[in-house]
Amino acid sequence: MRRFNLVEPRLLVEEDVSAPEPQAGQALIAVKCVGICGSDIHAYYGEHPYISCPIVPGHEFAGIVTKVGEGVDEGWLGRRVTVLPSLVCGKCYNCRNDRFNICQELKVIGCQSDGAFAEFVPVPADKLFALPEDMSWEEAALIEPLAVAVHAVRVAGDIVDQRVVVYGGGPIGLLVMQVVKAYGAKEVILSEPNSFRRSLAQQLGADYVIDPASVRPSQWLREKFGPDGIDLAFECVGIEDTIKEAILSNRKGTTIVVVGVFPKPVMVDMGLVQDRELRLLGTLMYIKEDFAEAMELLSSGRVQGLPLVTHRVSFAETPKAFEIIERERGNCVKLLIKHE
Ligand SMILES: [Zn+2]
Ligand SMILES: [Zn+2]
Repeated sequence: MRRFNLVEPRLLVEEDVSAPEPQAGQALIAVKCVGICGSDIHAYYGEHPYISCPIVPGHEFAGIVTKVGEGVDEGWLGRRVTVLPSLVCGKCYNCRNDRFNICQELKVIGCQSDGAFAEFVPVPADKLFALPEDMSWEEAALIEPLAVAVHAVRVAGDIVDQRVVVYGGGPIGLLVMQVVKAYGAKEVILSEPNSFRRSLAQQLGADYVIDPASVRPSQWLREKFGPDGIDLAFECVGIEDTIKEAILSNRKGTTIVVVGVFPKPVMVDMGLVQDRELRLLGTLMYIKEDFAEAMELLSSGRVQGLPLVTHRVSFAETPKAFEIIERERGNCVKLLIKHE
């Protein structure tokens, strides 16, 4: 089979290797569609704190079960599926308490174990999710990033009637924004420097968008809503500016959910976090319930995924995908790699 191996940063090499055989408890997936994630982009540039080369990327994918290993229900054969890509130990404290997303030994397919930039990928059969009949491959590949958003919103607690700020209009920010709207937020403000992403946010239901390159969000938010106006924030970028702005903007006593992946340590004023009794709440990936909820939100149309898909390439063109992302910058929101 063909696969694309990131042998070193910026060097994605096409390789011809024998197709993997599913081991006991595994299913083999013929990949149909795979998305490129912010973390794949960090990894591509050698800037992801927990991904190292060589690695076959690809953790947001959907496909068809073509083989099953020992002990796996043959009913899966031929089914259209997506896969929760976490590999967990099942034994550590968090695994024993149903918090598999923060397993002590967590590995992710496509991040620390070879992934779906390949014709076939073996996965644990207990991580398969059968797709609704009418769901396209493209939408199915968006379940994973939506599950990240669902999890982040779930850990934030009650959303109803809250005024929420989302920092960052990338795929995760746009999905978080839609999930909080679906769950009954009063108003959502999205801060994003790229004008295309801002217009997409408006199209998808943002009540206000702000351009942090022309106005400081903390200043704008305070003038518009006063010092008590912001109930909750989601940092979906992973840079110093956004977390600082969130700390300055939120009402005292509220929560800032940290969803963005920070490639390097940043300076924040912990004195303000203490004095304002703010909660900085980290969030990572998702658990099964979040994945199932993401599938439901997409298939019911309460969250729209396809408007995020700005670019598509064929599997053979996989290395070109990163050139497109580099060239298009913010105008590329979600790029999907499609198999024939
Ligand atoms: Zn992802
Ligand atoms: Zn564990």
